[in-house]
Amino acid sequence: MKNIKLAARESRPPTVVNAGGVEIGSGFSVIAGPCAVETEEQTVTTARAVQAAGADVLRGGAFKPRTSPYAFQGLGIEGLKILAVAGAETGLPIITEVLDPRDVSWIAEYADILQIGTRNMQNFALLKEVGRADKPVMLKRGMYSTLEEWLNCAEYILGEGNPDVILCERGIRSFEQYTRNTLDLAAVPALRELTHLPVIVDPTHATGRPSLVGPMSMGALAVGAAGIMVEVHCNPAEALCDARQALTMDAFASLMGRLRGLETYLAAQASESEVTG
Ligand code: PEP
Ligand code: MN
Repeated sequence: MKNIKLAARESRPPTVVNAGGVEIGSGFSVIAGPCAVETEEQTVTTARAVQAAGADVLRGGAFKPRTSPYAFQGLGIEGLKILAVAGAETGLPIITEVLDPRDVSWIAEYADILQIGTRNMQNFALLKEVGRADKPVMLKRGMYSTLEEWLNCAEYILGEGNPDVILCERGIRSFEQYTRNTLDLAAVPALRELTHLPVIVDPTHATGRPSLVGPMSMGALAVGAAGIMVEVHCNPAEALCDARQALTMDAFASLMGRLRGLETYLAAQASESEVTG
């Protein structure tokens, strides 16, 4: 892709992003937590459970980009303070979404990773601002965007001097209605051909169905993703945001067990093929 320079695979070795001590791009990293921070109890309970199950990073939205202006918009700064409590309790680094360029510098004080959501992938003012922040950025794929458009957006961030960009495939809109979006799993190996940046898969927003999160997480691991981001809630039925797609804490723990099993299997396969050539 001729316009892709800083993100191009040949421009440098594979990027490993250090986010609060977690290395994303080395092994398989798991980001988990609620869609939105609702209360301290909900966030800390969920954070403890995902940490105990082996998650590496805690997610939680304090600023929510909602389709309806009447829907819950997030707790704002109160939500960030709750995330800080949950982070301190569990030792997990925090990822949280930033919606407005004016908020980047102060949200960066609470976040270990700044998230750019699908709806803001091409918000160029926001991309430039996070490009000037001293925290890693996870750039989610625009729901209508090609890989080339997406990589151009990474280019905006890298161009401001921030080398720590993580890409997140979260599904694209298609004619299919059963799933919330259509997970483009082929994007993972395709991006490994095109870029040195690590690629995470979000099977929750991609499918919108808890029953499909497990299979797609396993798929993400099998195709070489650097990790997954999964929504987990201590009481999904009561969630204020994305209630229908969150995993229960038990379902998440069981998925982690299956992922570790597949990781071990894949590592054994890889070392066997090294031996046999
Ligand atoms: C999210 O991860 O909190 C989110 C809003 O996802 P997306 O931007 O992919 O819809
Ligand atoms: Mn969500």
